[in-house]
Amino acid sequence: MAGQPEHVLVVGAGLGGLRTAEQLRAAGHQGRISLVGAEPHAPYDRPPLSKQVLRGEWEPARAMLRDADALDELGIRSYLGTAAVALRHHGGADGRGTIEVELADGATLHGDVLVVATGVAARTLPGQPATAHTLRTLDDSVALRDALERIGSLLVVGGGFIGAEVAGAALDRGVAVTVLEALEVPAERALGPIVGALAGRLMSEAGVDLRTGTRLAGFVDGGVELADGTRVAADAIVVGVGAVPELGWLPATGPDGSALDVSDGLACGPTGRVHGLPGVWSVGDVARWDGHRTEHWTSAGDQARAVAHDILGADPPPATVPYFWSDQFGLKIQLIGRADRADSVLALHGEGLDGGAVRGTVAGYLAGDRLVAVAAFGAARLVARYRPLVAEGADRGAALAMAGTLDAR
Ligand SMILES: Cc1cc2nc3c(=O)[nH]c(=O)nc-3n(C[C@H](O)[C@H](O)[C@H](O)COP(=O)(O)OP(=O)(O)OC[C@H]3O[C@@H](n4cnc5c(N)ncnc54)[C@H](O)[C@@H]3O)c2cc1C
Repeated sequence: MAGQPEHVLVVGAGLGGLRTAEQLRAAGHQGRISLVGAEPHAPYDRPPLSKQVLRGEWEPARAMLRDADALDELGIRSYLGTAAVALRHHGGADGRGTIEVELADGATLHGDVLVVATGVAARTLPGQPATAHTLRTLDDSVALRDALERIGSLLVVGGGFIGAEVAGAALDRGVAVTVLEALEVPAERALGPIVGALAGRLMSEAGVDLRTGTRLAGFVDGGVELADGTRVAADAIVVGVGAVPELGWLPATGPDGSALDVSDGLACGPTGRVHGLPGVWSVGDVARWDGHRTEHWTSAGDQARAVAHDILGADPPPATVPYFWSDQFGLKIQLIGRADRADSVLALHGEGLDGGAVRGTVAGYLAGDRLVAVAAFGAARLVARYRPLVAEGADRGAALAMAGTLDAR
């Protein structure tokens, strides 16, 4: 590729793919953009799938981000309902060639640059029956919403954020819910064991039969059997045990013959350039930037902007702080920063860490003396004030001083 690309191929028409195309236009790209999506739907938003759509508050169409006409207006040619099945490089390992993407319907697209935005697919368990629900797509959400209207009991396998949001939506409809979690603390991977325990309390206090530290032996007629021989029966099952990057369509090796690094996502540099694939960038849930992969709504948008700028050779956008939220049992859980880097937790507001009310609890995460993340339960106004402190890696004293100032108001 010499200078700016004429034709950018974007594979994956979800949030990251759409935002990349939009950001390319916003940054002045005049050339062609093609957007390829496996699903028949125009790009839509996923957070409402386990919230407003599942609870029946929104018609599914409200989750749409841009319809076909709006894509046309931006000069984005869309190929929807047809997955990319192969990628080939033509013309040398230096990237000064074309990139060919083959689609499931046999068509081929040729571009100068490719952005891989294929997201993740719901992980399934061995022996999982076809009747068990997963929740990743709009169609999954509508199917589960309809099922919740017909059933009296629901078994959710996996107590992470999606499992908890599903459990909440089911309880709201009067469905009895059991959640099975393999770890001792639900949401431990996202929030750590101490703060994750508050997410567990939210579930139990709302009326969910939460069973942690359970090992599944397998699926049986009408339910599951646990490793200790106990059977748990329910009218319907949802499996929410994480997701796997959608990378099966990529080649095993790059044009120089070296193996592609796809261990936990597509390995990329700090601006999304895929290692070993010249002219290829990656954004969103599928991408592992600088050794770290996130499945966060805001990251997909932030990365899309950084990638669009990098493709066009424009100045990089300002660095951002990771952010995630989840709506559970009537309150918002928010996490700013990188909790995975912490070695201790610091109580900032509320009583939750002392066994009191979860609502209003704000916890800091420290790596040594540095504040690396802040989590909040129903405390949106407070948590926003810590964002600059997390961004600058403020110390414990500064975090406590902020807590004191906010409490004094
Ligand atoms: C139910 C649910 C609730 C969520 N709630 C929250 C939340 O509350 N807060 C939060 O921060 N994040 C939330 N997320 C995560 C957030 O939605 C994702 O981080 C975001 O959608 C990532 O965007 P993406 O473009 O990487 O992937 P996606 O939005 O998944 O888009 C990827 C697209 O690529 C398509 N695709 C896959 N393979 C191919 C192929 N070979 N060819 C062409 N197309 C292909 C897929 O069909 C999909 O449409 C939620 C996710 C889900 C599923």
